[in-house]
Amino acid sequence: MKIFIDGSYFEKDQAVVSVFDHGLLYGDGVFEGLRIYNGRIFKLKEHVDRLYASAKALSLEIPYTRDEFSRILNDGVEINGKSGSGQSGYIRAVVTRGSGDLGLDPDKCVRASVIVITGDIQLYPEELYRSGISIASVSVRRNSVDSLDPRIKSLNYLNNILAKIEAKQSGAAEGLILNRDGFIAECTADNIFIVKDGVLCTPLLTCGALGGITRGAVLEVAEQEGISVLETVLAQYDLYTADECFLTGSGAEIIPVVTADRRAIGDGKVGPVTEKLRSAFKKYAESYGG
Ligand code: PMP
Repeated sequence: MKIFIDGSYFEKDQAVVSVFDHGLLYGDGVFEGLRIYNGRIFKLKEHVDRLYASAKALSLEIPYTRDEFSRILNDGVEINGKSGSGQSGYIRAVVTRGSGDLGLDPDKCVRASVIVITGDIQLYPEELYRSGISIASVSVRRNSVDSLDPRIKSLNYLNNILAKIEAKQSGAAEGLILNRDGFIAECTADNIFIVKDGVLCTPLLTCGALGGITRGAVLEVAEQEGISVLETVLAQYDLYTADECFLTGSGAEIIPVVTADRRAIGDGKVGPVTEKLRSAFKKYAESYGG
């Protein structure tokens, strides 16, 4: 595995960063998780745009143009032997504030650091994509927009990690995070969708969700498949009374949910709309041309 750090490639055990990097000291930075399907990066432009938007929101200057950054990502795919047809993989792109001193002042960090890891990911065993997972509401609330806007994909994931710990402690695979007003925001690293009476619904981004690239792709695919979609405000009631539910993320892809807070969703089995979207999404991703 060849890992890109600030213009050079390193083997896995040689790929190291400074202990003075503010990404490590303060979680000061941004990141992206991207998928490679059939030898190509899925939704490259969307990921790069989101990365630059997250960085802009943090006044973090990425030391490459968007085209240069895209080239670095594509080079990583090539160099790591993942550009052939049929190849798949996962890329983690990280931009930290860079090395500074022990104070948090970002102005003391001279230059942002860029790290690109091109490898693989399997968040859930294959079996769970057929049987579905359980989710549980957690007590920790989603960061509010006036503290740390959830649309920023920052290196500060403690809000999500606290939620993940709580969900696992209650025996669920994933945590359902509500916003300050008690409405559904998202799960710890995934967006959430429900299906009710044939309509595919997902929380508005303003409810406290990251603008997921997979979320966007699923909305696109659903429209192509003639499924009505609705971005709206959802409460736990809507989830408990839904016919189907699934989560989306670049890591998890589309993972069905069959129980929430120990209640069966619909008949407690993976539903037909979820199945249809899973297979349509797979086709869409495999044939994606950029
Ligand atoms: N929400 C959160 C909090 C995330 O970290 C992610 C990314 N894993 C998502 C949603 C899904 O976004 P994407 O589809 O772009 O991976």
